[in-house]
This record gives sequence, C-alpha cells and structure tokens, in this order.
Amino acid sequence: MPERQFITPIPGVKVYEMFEVSLAVILKASAEIPSNQQCPRCQATRLRNKAYVVRELKHAVWGGKVVYLHLRIPKLHCLQCRRYFMLPVPGILPKKRATEQFRLEVFHLHHGGLTQKNLSITHSIATATVERWYHDFVAYRVKELEGRQCPLVMGIDEHFFSRKDGYATTFADLKNHKVFDVVLGRSEESLKAYLKRLKGRERVQVVVMDLSETYRSIIQKYFPNAMIVADRFHVVRLLNHHFLKVWGMLDPEGRKNRGLLSLVRRHECNLKPEQVPKLQNYFDKTPGLEPLYRFKQDLMQLLLKKHQKRIEAKQLIPQLLWHMNECLESPWEPLKVFGQTLRSWLEPIVRMWRFTKSNGITEGLHTKMEMISRRAFGFRNFKNYRLRVIALCGWDGVFAIRT
Ligand SMILES: [Zn+2]
Repeated sequence: MPERQFITPIPGVKVYEMFEVSLAVILKASAEIPSNQQCPRCQATRLRNKAYVVRELKHAVWGGKVVYLHLRIPKLHCLQCRRYFMLPVPGILPKKRATEQFRLEVFHLHHGGLTQKNLSITHSIATATVERWYHDFVAYRVKELEGRQCPLVMGIDEHFFSRKDGYATTFADLKNHKVFDVVLGRSEESLKAYLKRLKGRERVQVVVMDLSETYRSIIQKYFPNAMIVADRFHVVRLLNHHFLKVWGMLDPEGRKNRGLLSLVRRHECNLKPEQVPKLQNYFDKTPGLEPLYRFKQDLMQLLLKKHQKRIEAKQLIPQLLWHMNECLESPWEPLKVFGQTLRSWLEPIVRMWRFTKSNGITEGLHTKMEMISRRAFGFRNFKNYRLRVIALCGWDGVFAIRT
C-alpha cells in the first residue's frame, strides 16, 4: 500500500497492517534490525533478538483522525558484554508517547498561533501537554544555541522586565537583526557571571550603546577588542531633551503650548511650508530663542550624518568640537551638561558617522519582546521569559527532528 509509506517516513520502520477505528487510524508496524547494528556499550555486532516490546505512539493527524503507531521494537541481547538494550529508532525518543514528527507538528502549530485548546481537540492531547512540548522544543533549541559565538556587531541596551525583578539587558546581533541573549539586571555586578563565561568575547568588533557609563565600563572590561559606537537615536534624544529644557527657562509659557512644541522640536527639514512663518513669528516675539534654535538645528544636522568615509568624518570633527565648546561655555546649565556628555563620549559619537547600524534594531526587538510578554500575560520566571525571547527573536525557527 503506497499510503502507508507516505504516512510513515521513519527509516527502518515497516508498516504491515493498517485499519480504522471510530476516531483513529492504527498502523501496526515493526522496527527492523539493521544488519550493521552495534551494541551501544561495546560496539559488538554479535547480537541476539531477545524479545519485542510494543509501544503505542501518536504519529500524525490524517483527515481529522489521529494516526497511532503500534510499533514493535526488538529488545536485543549483546553476546559480548551480556547486556540488554532496546533497538534505537530514529525520531522516537525513549519514554515519549508520541513520535518526534508528531511533537514537532504540535510545536509548529502552536508557534504559528493555534491555541492549546484547539490543538488539544485536533491532536487529542491535553492542553498542558501542548505547553510542555512547546517548552521542551524551545529549551532544546536554546541549549543548541548555547555554544554559539558572540556576534561581530553587537547592540547592548536595557529594558524593563518586571516590577519584582526590575530591568534586563539585551545583547542584540545587529548584523542579523536577532536577539543574541537577554540577561537579568543592568549593573556590572549582575552581569559579571554571565559575561565571564561568554564564548568569543574577543571577536566582537563593534558595540552600539546608549550613553550609559555602566555599559561603557562593562564593554571596555569584558570585550577588549570592541569599538564602542554611540547610538544615534539616544544622542539625538538627549540633545532634544536639553534644548527643550533651555527653552522652558527662556519662555515657560510657550514651552507648555503643544502646537509650538511640535514646531520647535521638529527637525528643520520636516517643517511644512506654511509652518515656517508661524515659527518665525514666534521667534520674533521671544528674543534669544532663534540663535539657540539655529545652533541646535546645526548640531542636529551634524549628529544625524551617517555612512561617511574616514576622510569625510575627519573633516567634520572640527565642527563638532566647535559645537561642543559652545555648549560648554553656554550660560545655560542644560546645554553645559550636554557639552560635558559630548566631551565624555566624543570618540563613540564620532564613530557614529562611520556606521549605519544603530540600536533602532535593538529597540525594535524590545517592542517584539514586549509583545511576547503581553501575549503570555507577563512572565514571573525570567528563565522562561528568556527561553521564549530566544525562541521567537533569536533564530529562524528551523528544527531538525531529534534522534
Ligand atoms: Zn555489548
């Protein structure tokens, strides 16, 4: 019968009978002993077939019916070391009551969005079993990924995990747009143990991060060959933040006006033609704001530059230094603070011009992680959260059947 072979692509398993009962299809099959079968302990080939054990395994869903495999598996006796063992069958793990093909199918369906309830009906398994299998496959895959090397271009950023456990740190693979890992905590103390056993730390070339002192010292200590690059998004946000503060000191009333806020905060190039005179009108009424605004727009233009060649970047440095000094000598406290940040992060900010990658990718992954957390109605256990995150944002989701 051709359909028998269609439904059991397990190598070495031969179906000899097939029949339907009310809601199931039963396949009677036996596992054949290969001629070169060895004893798993002493590798001897002199074996005796002692007995058979019949295992009942769920194997597939076919036309709305669950296909059960009644598989006769030989128990073998090694004539050399005198031990007994069951013949290993690929795709059937010891003690499991379903074949790997079946378990994998449930995993993929659940991963694709079918609910546990749904699967418990179509596959006649308990809802808790769906959850357990899903978890099992994810954990297996994460274990497989455990030994991989650090990414060459890495992003590091923090995100909120839970009120009880606080923040977690994300290590992102910016080249492949994947999560490399998530670790609980954001201080050196809490990341130390993880970083120490990380493989391939010395091969990391670039690390993109926000302007955080803690992360900078961690990277310098644990990733000796990595170049630190400032994250454009954070630098721009910081400049905006300090600029708005100064504006609030200049004109507290105007700062509270939402319409004006939208005009003043915007990049100059994003202003609509009819908005330009409106803004000019406001500047005429507020002395001192316009030069400040021009200065900020200039600096913003400079900070937003990307994929510059080495020579081009070099030529931009004097401009940045000029802006930095202006900030430092400014009578406004917020600008002074920003100037100090620029001075302290000058090199990473200059490197920003040479790169296109930013932590926008990491921020995007954070959004995805938030969705995972929300879909699961929050995680209490960080370990489970990590498994899910790596499962869903850490790789392309291709599995090989376990043997
Ligand atoms: Zn043996």
